[in-house]
Amino acid sequence: MEFGFTADQQEFRQRVREFALKELLPGYLERDRTRTYPLDLQVRIREFIGRPTEVDFIRSGIAVEELARGDLSCAFWGEAAAGSSPLYSGAESSLGKYITGDNDQVGLALTEPEAGADLGGIRTTARPEGDGWVLDGEKNSVSYLNAPAFIVFARTGEPGDGWRGVSAFAVPRTANGLEFEEFDDLGCRSIPRGVVRLHGVRVPPEDQLWGGRGDDPSHRAGPFRHMLEFFNTNKAYIGLMSIGATQQTLDEIIEYAKRREAYGRPIARYQGVAFPVAEAATYLEMARLLCYKALWLRQQNADHQLEGAMAKWFIPKKCVEILNDCMVIRGHLGYSESLPIAQRLRDVAGWQIGDGPPQIQKLMISRRLFGRDFEPM
Ligand SMILES: Cc1cc2nc3c(=O)[nH]c(=O)nc-3n(C[C@H](O)[C@H](O)[C@H](O)COP(=O)(O)OP(=O)(O)OC[C@H]3O[C@@H](n4cnc5c(N)ncnc54)[C@H](O)[C@@H]3O)c2cc1C
Repeated sequence: MEFGFTADQQEFRQRVREFALKELLPGYLERDRTRTYPLDLQVRIREFIGRPTEVDFIRSGIAVEELARGDLSCAFWGEAAAGSSPLYSGAESSLGKYITGDNDQVGLALTEPEAGADLGGIRTTARPEGDGWVLDGEKNSVSYLNAPAFIVFARTGEPGDGWRGVSAFAVPRTANGLEFEEFDDLGCRSIPRGVVRLHGVRVPPEDQLWGGRGDDPSHRAGPFRHMLEFFNTNKAYIGLMSIGATQQTLDEIIEYAKRREAYGRPIARYQGVAFPVAEAATYLEMARLLCYKALWLRQQNADHQLEGAMAKWFIPKKCVEILNDCMVIRGHLGYSESLPIAQRLRDVAGWQIGDGPPQIQKLMISRRLFGRDFEPM
């Protein structure tokens, strides 16, 4: 058993941390307030993550964790870039031809007004026309709404087919019939999220990424195999970016508590301050081990669905609680926009929901523990 990072990984962590604190942290609040997409930074962060088809999962996990110390939205880009690598496998030629500029992040258009946690309910349709397809419907929670291309999930089979009747398509943002509407989000506002409406969008046959026609036996494999692989790994990255933002806050709070005096002594001397910090450090260390275990399994192509679900359920929620404790310890300025704690709290809060809410993660964990015959309701 080996718990340690290699010397090379430690040096890499240090390098990314320096970059995050020097280059990302100073503009963190301003980018969010002005909703400025960090394209220049994205290009530089790409160096730390690697190409989507050649991702080293542990290394990119370290990058995501450390980037979040500076700006969770920049780490979100790293997470999406690294996490989406299974989605790129076999889809490079379809997606690649639509990526012409510096922005190489593809949007994932899955969630719909009537299909969120229950993805089998997807209603967007893909109807055959000639040898291609015509897409109609609405996707209502697409991160990277500014992406040059989208992976759109649409129904090629019958509604009763559930998730088996769904295919995935590459759609460029320049396609005729696309309409966009941005949300007014609580956090991560430098990465636009919102609605993509599809009105008779034509897709050539070579841009059907996975799935088949309704009667094709290969349809049974379905695009959800790729999706699940993506989500399983991504949950560890989401955990790590929540940990990075929270650990940075905890480090700042420790320094503050040693400096700040009340009733004649540093507030670190009060158990009411030191104990929540000690508990938080313990939770973060447990959380970190779980995430790197999941990525270590992924690196070996081993099953990591359970570890991913555990990380996704537990970590963003626990980090929200820790950030709240840190805000209280920092006093009234912790609640202001002159410090980044409130922003980190808003950013991490969204990851309780994004990529599957906690109840769905617990459903997956329970299924593993009890078996499908005892599926909880
Ligand atoms: C920051 C952020 C980024 C996102 N990015 C994307 C993106 O890029 N692309 C994309 O397609 N989507 C994205 N999403 C959407 C996200 O994946 C969905 O919000 C999520 O899957 C839940 O869907 P819903 O919001 O429609 O909730 P619903 O499905 O309506 O569920 C509502 C509540 O009921 C609970 N619930 C549902 N079924 C059960 C059950 N069987 N048992 C117990 N509880 C249940 C859920 O857990 C949830 O709490 C993003 C969301 C956020 C917040």
